[in-house]
Amino acid sequence: MIEDFGFSICSTQTGCRSVLEIKRSAVERNVRELYRFTGKKIIAVVKSDAYGMGVRFVVPLLKELPEIDSFAVASAEEGVLLREMGVRGEILVLGGILPEELQAIKDYRLTPVVSDPEHLKVLGRENVNFHVKYDTGMGRLGFVGETVEDPRVTGVMSHLSTPADREFSLKQIEEFRRIATLYGRGVKVHLESSAGLVYRVPYATHVRVGLALYGEKPLRDYPVPLSPAVSVKARVISVKEIPPGHPVSYGRTYTAPRRMRIGVVAFGYADGLMKSLSNRGFLLYGEARLPIIGNITMDMTVVDLGDVSVKVGDWVVIVDEGRTFGDLARLAGTIPYEIMCNISGRVKREII
Ligand SMILES: *Cc1c(COP(=O)(O)O)cnc(C)c1O
Repeated sequence: MIEDFGFSICSTQTGCRSVLEIKRSAVERNVRELYRFTGKKIIAVVKSDAYGMGVRFVVPLLKELPEIDSFAVASAEEGVLLREMGVRGEILVLGGILPEELQAIKDYRLTPVVSDPEHLKVLGRENVNFHVKYDTGMGRLGFVGETVEDPRVTGVMSHLSTPADREFSLKQIEEFRRIATLYGRGVKVHLESSAGLVYRVPYATHVRVGLALYGEKPLRDYPVPLSPAVSVKARVISVKEIPPGHPVSYGRTYTAPRRMRIGVVAFGYADGLMKSLSNRGFLLYGEARLPIIGNITMDMTVVDLGDVSVKVGDWVVIVDEGRTFGDLARLAGTIPYEIMCNISGRVKREII
């Protein structure tokens, strides 16, 4: 069924047990659709190693697209990495600026987001442009009830705390409009994330998008047509039969009700498959669902093969077009962001 041993990334000397594939054409399509819907250029949010997808893979792809205006990361360190990768445009550092980061901000021409009087103190009189963040209801970073006016301000931003709540979001949007009008033309104005961009805020000049780049829907009824762009697969490393009454995995939380065929998959919680999916989730082999049985362990997960003919070396699917991170997140009682960020570094990344 899934017979692609031909992954170039896997034909290395040490082979490969799990892969995260990013489909270039799907990412490009998503960027085009997001631009078409909003009419605004995109600040691609690639903090935390591009949501765990791998900045080294995602950024070279994104930086060639005309709809991408610039990038945003969480810290100066993440910004330096992007600059070293050859990103030329603006790199926003969303997470403020600590004193030790000033040198890197200057040397790598990063653009900090100022959201606290201390950030301004760190900047002193340095010739560094920055964006200012306002807290209009997020209750995390941003100024409340005071404004920063400074010739070095090249952008202003805010952040929606509850994009699914229309009434509250519109209040935030109105509050930010009042603040944004204090700034002149030529200053970037942005507050919409993947979910927030459904409001098509007329006065905003840019949108800040992370999740939707990968085709993950941030809301149930999302008006932008997205194509899932990521798949995660892992190899089967053992197939065997166990007799009725035989326990499965740590803690013996599952006992074979009958003679059954089980498969051991080289993907565990260390790879990003949350332990909470033990005895609850399933993996995919083509169309077939393989229930996860017993506790998920660090490097391995046991599945019930039923009568599906799976052999050692085959690939099973954890995430793909038909089963997104969002689907898996619902099953695990979390959000897609968390699962994505936890896909570990030992899962090989590949752009296809
Ligand atoms: C992470 C982040 C975003 C992107 O959010 P998505 O839901 O992934 O589009 C936008 N703005 C800020 C301030 C963020 O921290």
